[in-house]
Amino acid sequence: MPRHAPCATRRHSPRCSSIWINSRPSTIRSATPAATRLLQQVAERLTDCTRASDTVSRLGGDEFVIVMPKIRAPADAALLAEKILAALAQPYAIDGRELHITPSIGVAVCPDDGCDASALIQHADAAMYLAKDSGRNNYQYFTTALNARAVERLALENAMRGALQRREFSLHYQPQVDLASGTLVGVEALLRWRHPELGQVPPDRFIPVAEDSGLINPIGAWVLQEACRQAMAWQAAGLPRILMAVNVSGVQFRHSDLVELVSVTLVESGLAAGDLEIEMTESVLMQGADAAVAVLRQIKALGVQIAIDDFGTGYSSLGYLKRFPIDKLKIDRAFIRDSASDPDDAAIVSAIIAMAHRLRLKVIAEGVGTVEQLHFLRNEGCDEAQGYYYSKPLPAEDVERLWREWRVPS
Ligand code: C2E
Ligand code: MG
Ligand code: MG
Repeated sequence: MPRHAPCATRRHSPRCSSIWINSRPSTIRSATPAATRLLQQVAERLTDCTRASDTVSRLGGDEFVIVMPKIRAPADAALLAEKILAALAQPYAIDGRELHITPSIGVAVCPDDGCDASALIQHADAAMYLAKDSGRNNYQYFTTALNARAVERLALENAMRGALQRREFSLHYQPQVDLASGTLVGVEALLRWRHPELGQVPPDRFIPVAEDSGLINPIGAWVLQEACRQAMAWQAAGLPRILMAVNVSGVQFRHSDLVELVSVTLVESGLAAGDLEIEMTESVLMQGADAAVAVLRQIKALGVQIAIDDFGTGYSSLGYLKRFPIDKLKIDRAFIRDSASDPDDAAIVSAIIAMAHRLRLKVIAEGVGTVEQLHFLRNEGCDEAQGYYYSKPLPAEDVERLWREWRVPS
């Protein structure tokens, strides 16, 4: 479809809709025969969902646009979006393996959201980002509020450019405790951004923007270097060796040479590989299975530990636990929150712990906030815990103080 052509059907119909789909078939490395086959299957399903009068086109990468010239009401686009979500949710058989994708769909409607192709596409694209932010696998319409959001996003991205050089980022560290002995065994490095005008911006707000803009690559590299430097500074100050856990975004897995970064950072900082842990979410594994397994194996070969963050929230096949060289599962805090009161959450937590141990994986519970949760986890044989019950994430100096004063419960 010509990108800047006017919405030709406007003369015939009062409404024309543009649907922008980001199908994320990056479950496999792009530009490989397998990726091409996956894209072909996605394109076939999209075509099967549409009518002869609709146009399906691929804009490049994993992004498709559908133009529906004949809709009666904006809600018609939602019907198609739902049909597409259901069609794309079916597994894909590629090279004898089953793959899943998580599409995000944005909808813009003429005349409400613009009347030329370029405005409709731009607005459908903005709506797609909202769908992504809302957890993927859903569709969103473009609205004025959304436009305001897009502007805010852009402002955040601009503010983030140069933030590293201006030294606006810092790391806080949250203790991780061994449940059997009560000793402090590690810390998780958590990124903080203080902008001179915006103030403290929460990571949940700026990290998705950093990921979409690619800024997460230099920022993530800084996080790793700073965390390793800090770990060595604590050792130099006479504190015992503990594990330093660092969050790594899926974008870093796909777009930068993570293995090289990790190995150079270890050499430069002097930190032992076994004292570093990389945390990543299940979705990273699911979105780039082949590429991710190769990267993880190389990181593992360096001697670095690997943990799956927010475990239990991604809808994924448990088969990956066998395929990937994982050391630890971090049970998502949503399950821990009600584990002492809700039998269903308690059952999920005990099942995860039992499964992890059968697979010889360690388990850490995140978001532990009460003594009841702690007792429950200890009874279930959970290895480690992290949460406000012990401490909020703290600046490096406060961690050092907390650590020196740490008393193992008798
Ligand atoms: P996460 O990796 O799952 O980190 C745990 C989050 O839970 C942290 O939020 C932490 O402050 C919070 N938390 C810990 N204990 C409790 C508790 O008892 N109760 C409650 N309500 N919350 C608790 P934070 O620091 O806001 O980070 C949010 C997310 O941002 C992180 O989730 C992680 O996904 C991401 N993030 C943070 N730093 C980095 C980073 O350096 N790189 C990347 N790629 N992502 C990061
Ligand atoms: Mg984490
Ligand atoms: Mg987490």
